[in-house]
Amino acid sequence: MANQIPNKMRGWYLEEFGQPYVYKIDIPVPKPREDELLIKMEIAGYCHTETIVASGDYQSKLPLIPGHENVGIVASVGPKVQGFKLGDRVGCNCRECTRGYSTNFCAKAELAGLTHDGGMAEYLVADPRWTVKLPDNLSFEDAAPLMCAGSTMFNSIRNARQDKGAIIAIVGLGGLGHIGVQFAKAMGYKCVAIDIRPDPIALVSSFDPCLRPDLVLDPRDGPEHALSKILETFPGRTGVDAAVVSTDASEAFKFSTDILEKHGVLVVVGQPKEPIKFHWRVFVTQDISIVAGGLSQPDVMEEMMDLVVKEKIRSTVKVYMLEDVTQLVHDFHNPHMKGKYVIRIAT
Ligand SMILES: [Zn+2]
Ligand SMILES: [Zn+2]
Repeated sequence: MANQIPNKMRGWYLEEFGQPYVYKIDIPVPKPREDELLIKMEIAGYCHTETIVASGDYQSKLPLIPGHENVGIVASVGPKVQGFKLGDRVGCNCRECTRGYSTNFCAKAELAGLTHDGGMAEYLVADPRWTVKLPDNLSFEDAAPLMCAGSTMFNSIRNARQDKGAIIAIVGLGGLGHIGVQFAKAMGYKCVAIDIRPDPIALVSSFDPCLRPDLVLDPRDGPEHALSKILETFPGRTGVDAAVVSTDASEAFKFSTDILEKHGVLVVVGQPKEPIKFHWRVFVTQDISIVAGGLSQPDVMEEMMDLVVKEKIRSTVKVYMLEDVTQLVHDFHNPHMKGKYVIRIAT
């Protein structure tokens, strides 16, 4: 298998911030170090963070191959790598973390597609410590969105540290939120799904009954309306126990604190352009805690994938071929977009 690896590959480069990606057919296939894996890419998810990287907000070094939701097949195994073999089906989004199990907060974290070349090309170098094996019965299309969107939502819901039966609001039902709703239900919570866009609301309302939200709210109806619906749906309840904000819309943070119970937990996943503002009452009167969302560590990823297989959680994906990334980026800004867009790389 190793000698089937070509010298050149197809892929996309971000060469200039704010400019479209550039397609190339003669990119040198990367050479992994002795402690690294080479992955033959199958599917790369397209994440909202890709747009932030492209804008320059992450100050990535250019040129850069974007893509941080990467799944594929192990094509070469460095002599110092343990636990992987040729042909393993794997997923990864990170190359290197000098502080081990704390990539989210490590200043030296190396993230594929953010600080070094990612998955929008035929081959990718990966750090085995941040690579997870995919369950046999999880397709590449279903697995790719789990590498960032799913991983982030699973970890964020866990970070809320609620007991089973608690009410979790998922605020923003896009690529992350539509998976988050299913996780919340599968993890034994009651779920309130919140968005202003009809297409994502229709999507989450169409899930199997056991993965469908208990209540769907349009925040434009206002917090009083939301609280009355919560009381009606969950008798005796005067708010949600935790709100996971998976949208960049600043108003979503205010709306979330408006519907949180006292002592509730706000989990920050979205990355609004402006600083997030809170009234002092959020702390002094409501005693709201604010915690970070963020990617799962590898052991938590495995727990997540077990849950996905067991509870038949599905990402809603639209598949584009590698040559069609420009179309994908265009479609990504369509207000009717729902679910996740992914790129099929292996032909
Ligand atoms: Zn690190
Ligand atoms: Zn992402």
